[in-house]
Amino acid sequence: MKILEIERKSRVLTKADFGCLSGAYTINVTRGCEFKCAYCYARGYPGTPSDEIHLYVNLPRKLAQELESPRRRAPIDRVMFNTASDSFQTHPDILDVTYEAMAALLERRVGFSFLTKGWIPERFMKLFSRYPHLIIARIGLVSLSERYRNLFEPGTAPPVKRLENIDRLLALGVHVEVRIDPVIPFYTDDHASIRQLLGALADRNIRTVSISYLHLRPAILEQLRRELPPTEFNVLRSCFHNQPWTTVGACTQSKLIPLPLRARGYARFKQHSKAFGITLLVCACKNPDMPAHKCSTAFEGKRNMKSNEAKQLSLFSC
Ligand code: SF4
Repeated sequence: MKILEIERKSRVLTKADFGCLSGAYTINVTRGCEFKCAYCYARGYPGTPSDEIHLYVNLPRKLAQELESPRRRAPIDRVMFNTASDSFQTHPDILDVTYEAMAALLERRVGFSFLTKGWIPERFMKLFSRYPHLIIARIGLVSLSERYRNLFEPGTAPPVKRLENIDRLLALGVHVEVRIDPVIPFYTDDHASIRQLLGALADRNIRTVSISYLHLRPAILEQLRRELPPTEFNVLRSCFHNQPWTTVGACTQSKLIPLPLRARGYARFKQHSKAFGITLLVCACKNPDMPAHKCSTAFEGKRNMKSNEAKQLSLFSC
């Protein structure tokens, strides 16, 4: 995909004002994302380019200036990457900017979290090894099935590489969380798929995961129509048949999977997670019609965590 280098004119450190990220400083090094997940809501944001990636080449420099600005009243101790992109896209220029931005933060003892479905290159691991206590790594992993990846997340790292990311990060002492989001009904929520995924996470001593089913927005519906084979699209669309457009999180035009279907799916996940000793947190922002886990920002949670017990997960990033 074509990369267009652009200058970031506005401030880098801005606070999110939606969902569980409200008040958190967020950073995206690109506008657009080469992974092109078929369900990605960020692709439908106004201003997101469809056929190229905009890379903020001056972001690390601006970030350093803002962190050191004498006009800053309160110090920033943490930021969140990836509310609308992935830090570990494969293009070397994107990785360079990501690396410089993360290094600028860590060298100033500013912690961060990131969420990725990509492969984390070794030079980042070397950087993280010097500041493991400042980092929360969140790995997006919905299924170990290559068929699922090819259909829904064609540009992302293979599931086995994401499991490797977990192993490598844990070996450094980095806190790792896993997000199973979005669960796709009839593709990733059968007993065998759930057992396989949770078993692989339990083998790595992951003890808490967050989860949410796919929800539709008008732009996502069109992406799915364009990018899935007709049979798969029709199966998925039928799940939302007769569901009203409603408010989910910050979006006023969303469709949820019908409650009985979602509840049965979460019950299957809970059944298997219990057997593996994993705590399952259902995202309240994306499941406003059922009892679920209300989260705050990941770093607030980390203060109350023991070892690898992720009790708070930020669920509105990409
Ligand atoms: S869901 Fe995340 S990784 Fe996938 S295309 Fe969107 S921003 Fe990129």
